Amino acid sequence: MPDEMSRPLIRGRGGPGPLEASSSEPGSPAVGILGTGDFSRSLARRLLASGYQVVVGSRNPKRSAALFPEEAEVTSQMEAANQADLLFVAVFPEHHSTLAELKPALAGKTLVDVSNGLQISRDGPSNAERLADLFPESAVVKGFNTESAWTLQAGPRDGSRQVFLCSDSRKAKSSVKHLCQRLGFVPVDMGPLSSSLEVENLPLRLFPSWRAPLACTLSLFAAFYLYNVLRDVCKPFVTARKSAFYKLPVETVNASAALRGPWVTLSLVYAPGLCSPPACSCGRGTKYRRFPGWLDGWLTRRKQLGLCSFLCAALHAVYSLALPLRKSDRALQLVNLAVKQAKDGTELWVDEDVWRMELYLSAGIMALGLLSLLAVASLPSVSGAVNWREFSFIQSSLGYCALTMATVHTLLYGWDRAFDPAQYRFYLPPTFTLALVPALAVLAGRLALAAPCAALRLRRIRRGWERSRHIRFVLPDDDDCRNGVEDVSGV
Ligand code: NAP
Repeated sequence: MPDEMSRPLIRGRGGPGPLEASSSEPGSPAVGILGTGDFSRSLARRLLASGYQVVVGSRNPKRSAALFPEEAEVTSQMEAANQADLLFVAVFPEHHSTLAELKPALAGKTLVDVSNGLQISRDGPSNAERLADLFPESAVVKGFNTESAWTLQAGPRDGSRQVFLCSDSRKAKSSVKHLCQRLGFVPVDMGPLSSSLEVENLPLRLFPSWRAPLACTLSLFAAFYLYNVLRDVCKPFVTARKSAFYKLPVETVNASAALRGPWVTLSLVYAPGLCSPPACSCGRGTKYRRFPGWLDGWLTRRKQLGLCSFLCAALHAVYSLALPLRKSDRALQLVNLAVKQAKDGTELWVDEDVWRMELYLSAGIMALGLLSLLAVASLPSVSGAVNWREFSFIQSSLGYCALTMATVHTLLYGWDRAFDPAQYRFYLPPTFTLALVPALAVLAGRLALAAPCAALRLRRIRRGWERSRHIRFVLPDDDDCRNGVEDVSGV
């Protein structure tokens, strides 16, 4: 009999969720689970809630029975293996070998291996392949390892709906697929058991597509930060023994081009587009040649780079707003300036400065607004609701608008400072000039590609024209085509 004292503890863990009402149907197929750990308990509850009968195999059924709902039968491993045709192996792979004595009872049955590795492995065999070697007469299916015990208990959510399955037995895989659907998950067929290593690596990956963009953003930030420390902190200290170290936490962080000029990162979003298939093929004369791996990788990371750029822009906005709050420094500087100007009798209102500041702020706000729009549009729920043309308009046309606004913002900030020798501390140019270089290069490249001769050639190449074959491919808006003539003869 289950220990009544411990039962409410286990129920309380899942909270009043959909699994409270277990409803196993008499006569429904019995599904076995070997092991009575966290995964097993959550899986048992979901199976019961989906109408299955559950039989759990434990080394110590008396001790473990209290952990399961009453509807689940907790028995010995051998008894469970005898009763069910489909069994989940919820035991760590290190202990799979201890199940060897169940071999005769498991012959001809389906075993679902839910195990994960400790670290990403590039070389096999996988846990599932080892289990298949251990039980050659059973059909092993790899799956459910990407679902946590918590997900099983709480029910599938959008981010964890998919269950990746692979097996060498079609029949076994199809019965697990069916079970998967009944539990509310979406099965994804990953092919034969040889894919199990890949399936086992899936939950061990930590934001694989974010590594390069984050590393790039952090490296840019670190490089520009050090550059500013050299110019704004070390220079006054070395030349005038003036301590400006207080600038390190706020002002220098904000002055780092990676933050002040998130456009550096944004330029990296649009730069590969200039040398991507259509653009490069302009020089190569074909779109059918492979591009180097690094360019492919760069192109597929543009969304992440764009979001990093948005993060930098948001941080820059907050840091800039916080600057006047630093009464000890910025506010005092302004008061000193005002007193000095009043004493000198100089005019405080300078039309040029006022206009410059207004336009500078407005361009910055516009750029941040557009970047926010791009970030929102990259959310799957939003991008899924627009068609390809709309998506490309937002990400490409509005993206270039954001880059242009940001460049204008930086140009207005710099104004004539780039020509002031005092700005070249230690002969190092101000950071905004560095931030402008990639942005201006990308905008100039885009303009060059928009020139009629380049644009026409690109359109032709996109439609399959190849220079080496000398085939003239007539575009729909060419005159000949409008007259109904399709010309593919040599030019
Ligand atoms: P756990 O809480 O440690 O449970 C493992 C169970 O294995 C034990 O309760 C034990 O049950 C059984 N077992 C059988 N032979 C054993 C032996 N020789 N030594 C020790 N235990 C033995 O582990 P878990 O978290 O449920 O994970 C089980 C499997 O599911 C693992 O392969 C894991 O990678 C996979 N998984 C877990 C999660 C999760 O969220 N927990 C998610 C995905 C995949 P008895 O004492 O009753 O026999």
